[in-house]
Amino acid sequence: MADIPKTCKAAVLVEYGKPLEIQEVSIPEVEPRGILVKVLLAGICGTDVHQQRGELTIKSPLPNIQGHETIGRIVELGEGRTIDAAGEPLQVGDRIMWAHADCGECYWCQIERDPVLCAKRSGYGWAPPSALRGGFAEYEMVNPKTNVVKVPDELTEEEAVGVGCAFRSVVGGFDRFGKVGLMEDFLIQGCGPIGLYSTVVARESGARTIIVVGAPANRLELAKKWGADHIINIEEHPDADERRKMILDLTYGRGPENVVEASGVPSVVAEGLETIMKGGKYLILGQTSAAATPIVVSRINEKGLTIIGSVSAHIVHFYRALQFIKTHRDKYPFGEIVSGKYQLEDVNEALANMASGKEIKPVIDSRDR
Ligand SMILES: [Zn+2]
Ligand SMILES: [Zn+2]
Repeated sequence: MADIPKTCKAAVLVEYGKPLEIQEVSIPEVEPRGILVKVLLAGICGTDVHQQRGELTIKSPLPNIQGHETIGRIVELGEGRTIDAAGEPLQVGDRIMWAHADCGECYWCQIERDPVLCAKRSGYGWAPPSALRGGFAEYEMVNPKTNVVKVPDELTEEEAVGVGCAFRSVVGGFDRFGKVGLMEDFLIQGCGPIGLYSTVVARESGARTIIVVGAPANRLELAKKWGADHIINIEEHPDADERRKMILDLTYGRGPENVVEASGVPSVVAEGLETIMKGGKYLILGQTSAAATPIVVSRINEKGLTIIGSVSAHIVHFYRALQFIKTHRDKYPFGEIVSGKYQLEDVNEALANMASGKEIKPVIDSRDR
């Protein structure tokens, strides 16, 4: 392992609201079952913008290396780590993605068997620089309790990178959402990565009509390529009552059976409750804000609604998301989610362009480093 350096560059969040600083940080020793990877692509997520500004309900300790949706190439495998979560052999040189580390010992891991809810979850993009556990760096350390999956050889890194956060969360959400009846209608609220992946999963779930509401236009155009039948641009139709009427006109006046909240805007939940069909199911996927919002609660029982919340995912959802892309990559241009590529030194520009909505999914491209 002589070619592994002792230090590498990382973009470090030193103070909330301030630009990330490029620092030289130490590369720790690989523990048994740990994995050291060279970062290939690191996606930037809306959560990263909120995290950098200190706006999340749970704040990461400072200083911190952000980046929680990463594809890495294995440079060193710790003793005892020989296979991935699907049983495939792991070798130096393989491309992998990984979930948060869950403890495997708490009530939620052991009794509920729902590791997404693990009491001692330890995420990536949240740790101090000494742990080297964020994608905004040249190398990253995958810890011994973290489950990993190999990226199928067929996939480009651009096709796969969205699995690291948005797509695995959508697969996890649809898992909790349960069975979707054949030829049911979907309303997808929001057309960022969560909304786009929800669109393509709904399409392949046997939906009849899929309506995507959001902005800006470039995201809605990609929603069409990923299976949306109708798009409603909120910049052209800012009035919620008008949007509701348009959606009812597209769904026989009844509204859609299924609504997916993928916007992250608290007030859209009220719009969803008004628009959804009686007896419908509502999946809340996009919210991260601590802000409260008024809703007419009686709509829920009057209409006999089922509301399901979901956040994040487990390694099974990474695996299924990667298999979904592998199986459908001739049908949908998954790589088009990557709207811009930036060097590590330009991470602050990438965050700003994510915040403004200029980018759909900017990535830090460290493949040539
Ligand atoms: Zn994310
Ligand atoms: Zn646990």
